[in-house]
Amino acid sequence: MRYISTRGRAPALDFADVVLTGLASDGGLYIPEVWPQISGEALGKLQGCSYSEVARAVLAPFVGESFGEAELSGCIDRAYADFGHRLVAPLTQYGPDDWLLELWHGPTLAFKDVAMRLLAQLMDRILAKRGGRATIVGATSGDTGSAAIDAFRGLAAVDVFILYPHGRVSEVQRRQMTTVADANVHTIAVEGTFDDCQALVKAMFADVAFNETMRLSAVNSINWARIMAQTVYYFTSALALGAPDRQVGFTVPTGNFGDIFAGYVAKRMGLPVGELVIATNVNDILDRTLRSGRYAMSGVVPSISPSMDIEISSNFERLLFEVLDRQAPDLQRLMDGLKQSGAFTLSERALGRIRHDFASARSDEAETRAMIAEMHKMTGRLVDPHTAVGLVAAGKVQRRQSGPMVVLATAHAAKFPDAVQAATGIRPELPQRLADLLDRPERINCLPNELKAVEPFIAQHARVNQGGR
Ligand SMILES: *Cc1c(COP(=O)(O)O)cnc(C)c1O
Repeated sequence: MRYISTRGRAPALDFADVVLTGLASDGGLYIPEVWPQISGEALGKLQGCSYSEVARAVLAPFVGESFGEAELSGCIDRAYADFGHRLVAPLTQYGPDDWLLELWHGPTLAFKDVAMRLLAQLMDRILAKRGGRATIVGATSGDTGSAAIDAFRGLAAVDVFILYPHGRVSEVQRRQMTTVADANVHTIAVEGTFDDCQALVKAMFADVAFNETMRLSAVNSINWARIMAQTVYYFTSALALGAPDRQVGFTVPTGNFGDIFAGYVAKRMGLPVGELVIATNVNDILDRTLRSGRYAMSGVVPSISPSMDIEISSNFERLLFEVLDRQAPDLQRLMDGLKQSGAFTLSERALGRIRHDFASARSDEAETRAMIAEMHKMTGRLVDPHTAVGLVAAGKVQRRQSGPMVVLATAHAAKFPDAVQAATGIRPELPQRLADLLDRPERINCLPNELKAVEPFIAQHARVNQGGR
């Protein structure tokens, strides 16, 4: 499989290079040259198969020549061995046609583990085969960072640097990052927002000299391997609910558009996905875009679902590329508009194509809190604020077809205990393996929101600079 950039001016790469590269050299995102297809018959054969078996079938065409069959299987098995549930991503029912897909059984209690654990295994294999070393630099609004740190901690060939917005992640999120003692992981608290962190990471990748000496790799949700890994649970859940004979809809708490784009990929591959509902919190740029056709930035407001407090929704570019018939110059014009004036307007045709596959709804803070309380009263279940945003959105959208609707439960309630307690009066407990998290010592490195502060910190601590392994 070859991968091309959405901006059309970077070389096409194979899977292994795409995994190591992350962002394309022209500023674009890599996307498969063609969408692999899985027939209805092949889907039928996957019914009743384990998560790993489905993953092998879905991922094999994407990794192409880069991984042998046994090698890919080994990566998948190692990635999911530490999950707290044998099914990896179990479904639970909360209404006649209403389901929750529990994606928080990984080590750091959010869905990011599903993709990050696999990405770490794939990257480690690629570097082991090449005999090189890499420096991972990533920005997090909370969950990506802890997932990356857990997935990569202790790996021989990789150092990890995670930038997060100082004071804008929950205590549990912060502690999951700052209490890890492994020498190859580092956190940087930036005095700014998540978008500032993301901009710093982009600037480091664009700094050719720095990028090359540090051998930078990206693991944020623009890395293709993460999207790819996330397609798997759309398949396992749809199969469990009757695909390929029945259509299944999904509602996805959305920030950077990576998770829901994976659902779109599953659909393009032949999975009978009904509508894909984009659920946003008060940072509702995507909901406004679907309504008005205009993507216009207006500033980010902190919310109780901080992992969705974003207005540069990076992976939306991949969808734009598709609905613009893969015309890179047309996409470039939109991105230039965004850079110059903080906005762009979609053509009628592009907007129509997005609306064909996607619907959207937003949940304000009061609605999110009320939903946490209502779910608890109705089902005895504690849901986290991100999942609650999804539940509100699933309740609001006019469903276009009958059949099951799956809301992605993207985090464990104990990851956001204050919001859950405020809504229900009950403080969700951390699972046993994290019970002492609040007592572990922290390492905090706070830096100003400036490239000239962040780059030297990384250069000083990365082992790439310290010769050999
Ligand atoms: C990252 C995250 C999201 C948003 O996912 P995207 O792929 O960025 O759209 C939603 N909920 C939680 C808990 C997250 O960590």
